[in-house]
Amino acid sequence: MAETHAPVTTVSPSPSPAGTRHRGRFAPSPTGPLHLGSLVAAVGSWLFARHRGGDWLLRIEDIDPPREQAGAARQQLATLAAFGLVPDAPVLWQSSRGDAYAAALECLLASDRAFTCACSRSELAAYGGIHRSCVAASAAPGCDERPLAIRLRVDAGVVGFVDAIQGRVEQDVAREVGDFVLRRADGWWAYQLAVVVDDAAQGITEVVRGADLLASTPRQILLQRALGLPTPAYAHLPLVLDAQGRKLSKTDAARPVDPGDPLPALRHALAWLGQDVRATTGAANAQTALQRALAVFDPGRIPSGGAPAAVGDNG
Ligand code: GLU
Repeated sequence: MAETHAPVTTVSPSPSPAGTRHRGRFAPSPTGPLHLGSLVAAVGSWLFARHRGGDWLLRIEDIDPPREQAGAARQQLATLAAFGLVPDAPVLWQSSRGDAYAAALECLLASDRAFTCACSRSELAAYGGIHRSCVAASAAPGCDERPLAIRLRVDAGVVGFVDAIQGRVEQDVAREVGDFVLRRADGWWAYQLAVVVDDAAQGITEVVRGADLLASTPRQILLQRALGLPTPAYAHLPLVLDAQGRKLSKTDAARPVDPGDPLPALRHALAWLGQDVRATTGAANAQTALQRALAVFDPGRIPSGGAPAAVGDNG
């Protein structure tokens, strides 16, 4: 997120606004079994929510079937339960939320904040892949046959927020990202729209997730403003990297965590979050280990970076 001199608008909401119950969440995409990186996000979001005396919710982000794996969502829920991570409300499935996303999109189109767009990836390549205005050869015959995406119109200006772990973050969304997609040309909902609509619908007051999503947050703040929704507080956890410094992802060959033997992976996740793992010594099961970790949880000890981890023993 580069230096810029455009006007800055910053938000830093309290994680527990007065009169509102604190709510955190974990929101996996069902692209495969949970690995250490996802467990760090799950445990980190649970610890923050409980530490602030609030609820912890779960949302399955199953809106991108081409990337999903059959049975992965159920397997993720079973694994979380084996780790003692049980939500305080029924799980929200994004695949059932199409009407809510359509209503939000309708509102953005009606207020001219969103627009239909025929630009293809190859047409935008000449502009670094960034959409600032439509460049599709729309006058060409047959162009009106193209599938259309819907994008948010992004005005000039810097969006800033104060992250509980990463500190102050600023991004000139118009310059670095451009007008971004809300509904894809293939008809699927974009993550940015779905996450904003659902964080508001679930009453989330603090989003705790991996730092790979840090650069998405300014887009989400712009969307919250365009839809008149509250902006939650944010805390982006250090990424778990492999020995080569690469991010572990669910679609990589990263070893899944073992729901049959949760304690080693749980301790590894707590250590990654900078917490005092000795508190969990002698715990008979994952629930007890989590409660003991919560009793000594110190958000100030969470490192902001993602130094390479030894990932050979992730349970
Ligand atoms: N579904 C996203 C993932 O699995 C996380 C989205 C979020 O936490 O905002 O990477």
